[in-house]
Amino acid sequence: MPQKTRETPMMEQYLEYKKQYPDAFLLYRVGDFYEMFYDDAVKGSQILELTLTARNKKAGENIPMCGVPHHAIEGYIDTLVDKGYKVAVCDQLENPADAEGKMVKRGVTRVVTPGTIMDKSDQSKENNYITAITATKNVFGLAYADLSTGEVKVTSVENQLDLTNELQNLDTKETVVSGSFPQKYLDQLRKYGILISKIEELEENYTFDFSQIIDESEVSTVKLLISYLIKTQMRSLDHLKPAQSYETSSYLLMDHSAQSNLELFKNIRTNKKSGTLLWLLDETKTAMGSRLLKQWLARPLISVSKLKRRQHFVQVFLDNYFQRSSFQDYLTKVYDLERLAGRVAYGTVNGRDLIQLRTSLEQVPEIKSILLDIGDDELTTFVEKIDEVSDIRELIDKAIVEEAPISVTNGGLIKEGYDEQLDKYLDASKNGKQWLASLKAKEQELTGINNLKIGYNKVFGYYIEVSHANTDKVPEDRYQRKQTLVNAERYITPELKDKESLILEAEEKSKSLEYHLFDQIRKKVKDQIRRIQALANILSQLDVLQSFSVISEEYHYVAPEFIDDHELQIVNGRHPVVEKVLSNNSYIPNDVNFDNQTDILLITGPNMSGKSTYMRQMALTVIMAQIGCFVPAESAKMPIFDHIFTRIGAADDLISGDSTFMVEMREANDALKNATANSLIIFDEIGRGTATYDGMALAQAIIEYIDKHVNAMTMFSTHYHELTELEEQLPGLRNVHVDASEENGDLVFLHKVLPGPADKSYGIHVAKLAGLPDDVLSRATKILSSLEETSVHTTTSDSIKEPAASEPMPVVKPEPKVEPVADDSEIATEDDDAQLSLFPEVTQ
Ligand code: ADP
Repeated sequence: MPQKTRETPMMEQYLEYKKQYPDAFLLYRVGDFYEMFYDDAVKGSQILELTLTARNKKAGENIPMCGVPHHAIEGYIDTLVDKGYKVAVCDQLENPADAEGKMVKRGVTRVVTPGTIMDKSDQSKENNYITAITATKNVFGLAYADLSTGEVKVTSVENQLDLTNELQNLDTKETVVSGSFPQKYLDQLRKYGILISKIEELEENYTFDFSQIIDESEVSTVKLLISYLIKTQMRSLDHLKPAQSYETSSYLLMDHSAQSNLELFKNIRTNKKSGTLLWLLDETKTAMGSRLLKQWLARPLISVSKLKRRQHFVQVFLDNYFQRSSFQDYLTKVYDLERLAGRVAYGTVNGRDLIQLRTSLEQVPEIKSILLDIGDDELTTFVEKIDEVSDIRELIDKAIVEEAPISVTNGGLIKEGYDEQLDKYLDASKNGKQWLASLKAKEQELTGINNLKIGYNKVFGYYIEVSHANTDKVPEDRYQRKQTLVNAERYITPELKDKESLILEAEEKSKSLEYHLFDQIRKKVKDQIRRIQALANILSQLDVLQSFSVISEEYHYVAPEFIDDHELQIVNGRHPVVEKVLSNNSYIPNDVNFDNQTDILLITGPNMSGKSTYMRQMALTVIMAQIGCFVPAESAKMPIFDHIFTRIGAADDLISGDSTFMVEMREANDALKNATANSLIIFDEIGRGTATYDGMALAQAIIEYIDKHVNAMTMFSTHYHELTELEEQLPGLRNVHVDASEENGDLVFLHKVLPGPADKSYGIHVAKLAGLPDDVLSRATKILSSLEETSVHTTTSDSIKEPAASEPMPVVKPEPKVEPVADDSEIATEDDDAQLSLFPEVTQ
């Protein structure tokens, strides 16, 4: 910040506040504008596309400045926060007219940050998690909260990788650290676009329920988070639920790359929800249910008893179609109770919100009786726990008018009959209005002026208005002229003024009494927030379960059976999303079989035949099974998996700057080190990111290692046909292939998975499908057949065991340029290129 010789008092005040919020844009209220100064102004004007000016240019003060009109501030705040910045709003705390020549009192009234922004309606189906992290010698603490729903959780993780993973899975925009947090970790988090907020001092003065956390270091992580929330929010946080500790290992683990490769939440190409597993499964009726479904998907269970319970409820909903659909009808009328509770606690709730709350509560008795009517013991026990919170429903019903206004200060929101005093005021102002109407009629009659009107303005209250054409009929003795307009005159009379004070007083008093009553009601609701949250919790679970039943019914899914053995059997399984997207039932179902001898399925088949789809299908089926949903198959038996590892696709890790191959190897390493016999490993063409021999050697070594040391169920697709011979040496490996056939030289994909290795790779056929020039295709066919003749390494299994890395790849000499072509020299270079790119490893 440039140091000026002497600041004006206002700029001194500004700098004082700016000092307290160095990492935020300070929006400083001056008159009808919020202004930014200095660097904030320079940067802010760019981001918000505002005109950059200078303050007091004439006086030689060249302070950069830009501003936004006060009524438009929310949009600007949203833009800044969306882009990952913080905003501190500094308001005028007194009416400038009252400041009597002194500086207007100001103060920061709120700080909005990416992790704490609330009430963005487009995000209602998403949680917005703010996190806090701490580091001790051996562990990292990680706490998170969603301010709008009040959820607070904390865990401990052992290493930085797990920490980053968890932060990415939570999709956090902002993380809080103490001043002493090691810098080296922070730089990496910033790379992932996470805003780091440092706080130096913890808040001590608050009440919060830590009773459910045992671990001391987890308590301090939560304290850090709560301190930050108090510092930024500056208001009641009573809706925060007691913090709960969780362990990542009590769920089916998936690191962030697995979640994104399997497209659970985001379509890799479009970055949208469409085409994802969440998209497929989400038939929830409430925003709370949708958020819970996302949480379940992010953390599938490993407890068979819990899963069986979910399956049971899904089955109950399947068996009781009519009750289910009427349950859905009522559920549709339930608003976002979690967020309403948040607004009640925050004090930002208005009459409309309370009506939404009441409408939601009105559905509960119906919902309860429908579900009890089903007569299922387990469901009944669950549903009987539902607290209808009827006291709050009745309170709102008695107190708040149906069409409540947005504002809570302008009256018109409390029902007649709720409060005696208010009724009197309302009566007075209603009578007053009637009196005005009769006065108008009386004056019209007395004066004979038919278009005489009675109006009101803030400056001189009620008046009588007469158009110029009629002013000669005005009784000068009674009417006192107050204002001349272009086409009318305005008058007052003593009688009018007398009544006016009564009417206005009643209105004024009733407005402030209404506000007071509203505030009381709000507090009464606030006292019951825990009950509303508990209700929200049960309803959202039921919502997700009914959603599972809808999907399972529509797509004919079955309940998977969980078994203790190291075996898996899926009969006629399908990829749920591809199946939904493909038209007219054209998805070809496939079995997956791991008997207790098999660890590894080695999958071969031409490109585009469906290898990758087959493996993803397996992973998605496991995930669906472990969130309690039914699965896309005719029948399914499977063990409970503890961890899914994937290496799919070729997405470079753009953030860390690592190459595809590096990412591939890192993911492979992660699986080999951390997988157990209860894990699932999906490796799609491991090794293709490097030279052929390298890649094949690595692929083979990895397979052998899994077979010998890991024993996780592994699906390994490859285009190295040579690897299929491993079946003879590794008892745990079985070959399968995705079938394709050739008809009249064209490739027909059958998408059917069959035992044994593929006989051919059909790469050239796929190239043909892709429309490569005929010249390239026929040349490739020739090269291929000479290679097959030379066939130096593909026939003996010995060479598979020990492929000599130094052994050169057989290269077919380029053909002499004899073929009649249009432009010799052009083709000659193309041929050379073709050779280079086909076999890059032998050109050195
Ligand atoms: P590969 O991994 O062998 O190159 P993919 O798994 O990417 O092949 O599949 C290619 C395309 O084939 C997919 O986009 C999908 O549309 C289609 N496909 C795959 N498996 C099936 C199937 N079982 N039934 C119908 N279509 C399928």
